[in-house]
Amino acid sequence: SGYHKVLEENRKLYNQVQDLKGNIRVYCRVRPFLPGQGSPSTVGSIDEGNITIITPSKSGKEGRKTFSFNKVFGPSATQDEVFIDTQPLIRSVLDGYNVCIFAYGQTGSGKTYTMSGPKNMTELTQGVNYRALGDLFKLAEQRKGTFIYDIAVQMIEIYNEQVRDLLIRNNSQNGLNVPDASLVRVASTMDVMELMNVGQKNRAVGATALNDRSSRSHSCLTVHVQGRDLTSGTILRGCMHLVDLAGSERVDKSEVTGERLKEAQHINKSLSALGDVIASLAQKNAHVPYRNSKLTQLLQDSLGGQAKTLMFVHISPESDAVGETISTLKFAERVSTVELGAARLNK
Ligand code: ADP
Repeated sequence: SGYHKVLEENRKLYNQVQDLKGNIRVYCRVRPFLPGQGSPSTVGSIDEGNITIITPSKSGKEGRKTFSFNKVFGPSATQDEVFIDTQPLIRSVLDGYNVCIFAYGQTGSGKTYTMSGPKNMTELTQGVNYRALGDLFKLAEQRKGTFIYDIAVQMIEIYNEQVRDLLIRNNSQNGLNVPDASLVRVASTMDVMELMNVGQKNRAVGATALNDRSSRSHSCLTVHVQGRDLTSGTILRGCMHLVDLAGSERVDKSEVTGERLKEAQHINKSLSALGDVIASLAQKNAHVPYRNSKLTQLLQDSLGGQAKTLMFVHISPESDAVGETISTLKFAERVSTVELGAARLNK
């Protein structure tokens, strides 16, 4: 069938993709110093998948801690370099796999930069979202003779355990279930650019100058792909979640009250629910507690089993962030131990 022909043609790529199945890959990315900053970096060294962090100690003597991941991108890594290692995963969505890519790290560590890009974006600085969709369209076009693909996107935000649809102008549907969010068909990168703009604007609606809500909500771009094999009529369905998580920084409960405390508790709850799901997958538990947060419900089909998951963990290089950096890297190391068999069938 056409499907097998495509697989033959992509044998090498496909093998690469098979390797990724069921594992959670973790890439670490270190943000460069921003203009005007320049204290000594906490990053002692980077050697392929290893990163060594310099930690201050009470006696004034420096400590060193090394963490290992599938890959570590240093501060000079370009958006293109970061994307190249992500590409095989994105392509597998067209073969009917579910994929989840998420960005984790404290506020200001570069999550949005990796997933979307900087404020004044150029083609060179476009993030994973744009590149991923660009690739999907390109590959779908190449397979035109054997497959017909339908691509549609959803954009949602999870804030205080409430789901908000970012692709419609009237944003009053709190408590929405994820599958009910608007699903918009896209046919080109231009369509996607326009939708992302709508989503960004809607996201900003909830934010005030003092309260940059975007750092305290999870945002997710979900891409649904349906391919029909023209020879056999077989339908392949794949889906990809691109998630920019809320800032992972711990909040001192004695210093915040009201809304701010509520936000912090919700973030804590959802990120620890994510950690619990991952830990229970790692232990191959029969019961995986997906239902404990909106975030893990959303990602249920893309964590475990046949799904392919990639986490970008972001760290800031500044020495005053060293506490958060260590706790981020510890969380990430826990995530990277997950290796799954076909524990769950997702279809
Ligand atoms: P977060 O989403 O984690 O809160 P941002 O992505 O907004 O962090 O990054 C904070 C600032 O650092 C932004 O001004 C962003 O453009 C800049 N930045 C982050 N990562 C990089 C990078 N790899 N190269 C250049 N600038 C970066």
